[in-house]
Amino acid sequence: MRFFNTYPPHIVHKVQYTSRYNRLTAIATLGSHCALQVLKGAKDEGLKTILVCEKKREKLYRRFSFIDELILVDSFSAILEQKYQSILEQNNAVLIPHGTLIAQMSSEQIESIKIPIFGNKWILRWESDRIMKEKLMREAKLPIPKSVKDAKDIDNLVIVKRQGAAGGKGYFLAANKEDYNKKREHLISQGVIGKDETLYIQEYVAGVLAYLQYFYSPLNEELEFFGADQRHESDIEGIARIQSEYQLKSTKVPSFNVIGNSPIVLRESLLDEVYAMGDNFVEAAKKLVSPGMNGPFCIEGVYDENAKFTSFEFSARIVAGTNIYMDGSPYYSLLFNEPMSMGKRIAREIKNAEKINQLDKITT
Ligand code: AMP
Repeated sequence: MRFFNTYPPHIVHKVQYTSRYNRLTAIATLGSHCALQVLKGAKDEGLKTILVCEKKREKLYRRFSFIDELILVDSFSAILEQKYQSILEQNNAVLIPHGTLIAQMSSEQIESIKIPIFGNKWILRWESDRIMKEKLMREAKLPIPKSVKDAKDIDNLVIVKRQGAAGGKGYFLAANKEDYNKKREHLISQGVIGKDETLYIQEYVAGVLAYLQYFYSPLNEELEFFGADQRHESDIEGIARIQSEYQLKSTKVPSFNVIGNSPIVLRESLLDEVYAMGDNFVEAAKKLVSPGMNGPFCIEGVYDENAKFTSFEFSARIVAGTNIYMDGSPYYSLLFNEPMSMGKRIAREIKNAEKINQLDKITT
């Protein structure tokens, strides 16, 4: 493992040291998910940017001049090592957590990180654990689909999910216990899911998918609605594009693996409820997991034919769906008179907190 910048001078990557960097915080994140947006936003705000980068992705990330420094690692878990944490500490770095951190590290590992993490690192456990997740969603009064405790109780179409931020990979639909067992065994035999893996079974809700993206600022105690997106998932979308006669012949278990995102703008009459759900979520988080839901988060669900929203999931940190609004979202253009991405909003919050000496309020 090598570290660029502090050690071999010949591999320093576009670091522009100015006196500002000595006093300002640096922004660090893992090289995946929404790293480009986060670091571009930080750079636009005049902050130093650091990417923890797997060696195999070095070539990709070197294409972007707004990344000041790359810390090259074999795997992301290296940031748990004292050596790397010290380097980040020396840089006054705040780590921006995203889906890759959650997917690749346990809650214990994330909680053990010593450098400041933007938002609330304790709430990430509530995102990863299905039981805790359901508890927080209930507290937030979000309408959630029924969960099914045992496969023998499946009497309607259900979606079977894995724990953590699996990105929909290995999820499957089942109509009854036999169907569940058949598909589960098939996926185990293919190595997609583990034999001892605890799966979460939830009623399938049909409708228009919408992933609602928010930002809560504990500095001004305000909730902002940033935007909404939809996910394109393979190969459930692929199966929908072929005629039913071929669908019926297919023996494949279609997965919900996220490939990309596209924007959706909601009917304006839905916005009031969108804000209410966000407010309730912030309130519930304050109550259950101190210091609450600070920073970006997402409530994910489905609108039915009566425009009733059912939420099947939340993310307690920035979601990759915000990548579609790197130059600002429609809703943020109503709140800011400048292009404002979620990455830039995070950096702005850090700068604001720093100005009033309240970094502790926005990090854990
Ligand atoms: P999740 O990891 O919970 O975000 O789920 C991944 C994908 O599965 C979502 O983007 C949806 O397409 C689908 N999905 C999850 N839960 C449900 C549900 N209860 N009803 C319908 N679709 C769902």
